[in-house]
Amino acid sequence: MKRKRKKIKKQLWFFLIFFVFLLLGNFCLTRKKTLEKEVLNIICPKELTTELGKAIDLIKNIEYDKNTKIDIHVEGDYDFNRVGEYSLYYVIKDENGNEKKEPFLLKVISYNDADITIGEKPYKTSKGFKIEEIDGVTYIDGTLIVNKTYSLPSTYGNGLTEETKTAFQKLRAAALLDGFDIYIASGFRSYDRQVTLYNNYVQRDGIEGADTYSARPGHSEHQSGLTFDVNEVSDKFHNTPEANWLENNCYKYGFILRFPNGKEKVTGFKYESWHFRYVGEELAKKLFNNGDWITLEEYFGISSVYQN
Ligand SMILES: [Zn+2]
Repeated sequence: MKRKRKKIKKQLWFFLIFFVFLLLGNFCLTRKKTLEKEVLNIICPKELTTELGKAIDLIKNIEYDKNTKIDIHVEGDYDFNRVGEYSLYYVIKDENGNEKKEPFLLKVISYNDADITIGEKPYKTSKGFKIEEIDGVTYIDGTLIVNKTYSLPSTYGNGLTEETKTAFQKLRAAALLDGFDIYIASGFRSYDRQVTLYNNYVQRDGIEGADTYSARPGHSEHQSGLTFDVNEVSDKFHNTPEANWLENNCYKYGFILRFPNGKEKVTGFKYESWHFRYVGEELAKKLFNNGDWITLEEYFGISSVYQN
């Protein structure tokens, strides 16, 4: 009898120990699963934006269970004092060694034109348009920009672009139907040609004088292959029937009156009723603005000022 009891006691102990192990094992397994889930359940922002010079906490907006032990750090280079878009990673680790990498974009933006020259590319204009510099050529929202702020490399350009020529033929044909003969007086001008022209003007009128009507080399739109002067290249062309026709119709063919009357301070150049720039029909129509021309500088929110 005594022996049998002892045997049952032994069996009970065995089951008890077995159950304890079973419970412990099960507990550990679920615990590990939860942690893996915790790492997976983290919600990271895909994009963060801040203004130049304003440091922000990059980790603050990550959503996760704050009761868990999780290590988050940011991988990659960025600088709150440089305009730019930085591709970075969140590296998230839990206490079990589970690791997760989440990509995100940090945008450091500026609303001040002057900051843009110190920034990395691509950056944005004061109106939020994307500025890209490709092989030394500046494109804003995909539109090539040449003015006193933005220049072209000396090697850029070799004649009017095919698009510009085709669009001009359409414009010319339409003008002829209305009885006006519009012809190109000066189209593409190379960097070297502009050097000669500008130096001649400086000799005649001084730098200050020349800068009001002639672009410095690299800053002439004529080097872009998207620009031409028509007919009479002088103030005598103002208010002629041809000038008036162009001012009211050029946008239909993708051209803009680049230096409208009264916008000298914005474009950096005096009124030129003969100077047209191809931008495509869509943008040209916006800039035509039902006859009240908006300049490229105003539309994109950029300056036209020589930097030195
Ligand atoms: Zn011109």
